[in-house]
Amino acid sequence: MNYAENILETIGGTPLIKLNRLTAELPCLVLAKYETFNPGNSVKDRMALQMVEDAEAAGVLKPGGTIIEGTSGNTGMGLALAAVVKGYRMICVISDKQSKEKMDILRAVGSEVHVCPTDVPPEDPRSYYSTARRLSEEIPNAWYVNQYDNPSNCKAHFLSTGPEIWEQTEGKVTHFVVGVGTGGTISGVGSYLKMKNPKVKVWGIDTYGSVFKKYHETGIFDKNEIYPYVTEGIGEDILPKNVNFGIIDGFTKVTDKDAAVYTQRLAKEEGMFLGNSAGAAVKGLLQLKEHFGPDDVVVVLFHDHGSRYVGKMFNDDWMREMGYIE
Ligand code: PMP
Repeated sequence: MNYAENILETIGGTPLIKLNRLTAELPCLVLAKYETFNPGNSVKDRMALQMVEDAEAAGVLKPGGTIIEGTSGNTGMGLALAAVVKGYRMICVISDKQSKEKMDILRAVGSEVHVCPTDVPPEDPRSYYSTARRLSEEIPNAWYVNQYDNPSNCKAHFLSTGPEIWEQTEGKVTHFVVGVGTGGTISGVGSYLKMKNPKVKVWGIDTYGSVFKKYHETGIFDKNEIYPYVTEGIGEDILPKNVNFGIIDGFTKVTDKDAAVYTQRLAKEEGMFLGNSAGAAVKGLLQLKEHFGPDDVVVVLFHDHGSRYVGKMFNDDWMREMGYIE
């Protein structure tokens, strides 16, 4: 018989799928690393499990303990799956701009959810960074995951996502394009691919309202770059330790409107029902067109599933209210 011992054993081993229509104007082969095939429907299952297992091994997460994280939803889902299988209590602290679907999904898999305001600086006690820290100090036997600075985040992608892409492309990958939030995906995959072939180029997708692009280009953390934005999952108002700026060749910023419109187009033109950061990634990839030649193999990673965005990017009333479609 061929079966997994539990749901966590099905994490990873996701397919690589060619884009056919949306990137037809590019001279190169474009392949999507399709992470929604993970059991929690996002790439984040990989790093969630790695972080939990490394914390267990280090003795900071003990039997009967509570896992606490500030998460936009996908990491919470991955952590919640690990918590269910391994028998921990799970608390997710989430910002109020996240979709209701994400919150409902977290509750469905047994997580408690605390909602915090988005429009306050990270150091404000009401922010989700501060709230998560405070809860982890108040609750006994609690472990604060901190995906932004936790090195197991990047490590998961160095150990699994990166090698999978290298093997699936038979070492022919020349460019890796991906949205950047905590930085774990780009840094782990990017450093693995550059270790195998230093010529591989690594491109980060950023959003307007985030500090990454300017910081990468100038070394300046410019607070004027920070303002509220709609795109979910990518961009930050902090510099997480998991962003390894040294292995990133460049960033491009995608507007909220383009990210939303391309999220719809991926579903309608490729049959790829994906989250908002996938729309941003594919639009960003088109913006990087001048860097790609006919012999290139470009891998773009799609983080999460469209079901979490049915009230927003897949709702035409919402799209019209936002002025994204006529
Ligand atoms: N897209 C989505 C939907 C995400 O949830 C995240 C994680 N915040 C990202 C992209 C960015 O990935 P990473 O945190 O590994 O940079």
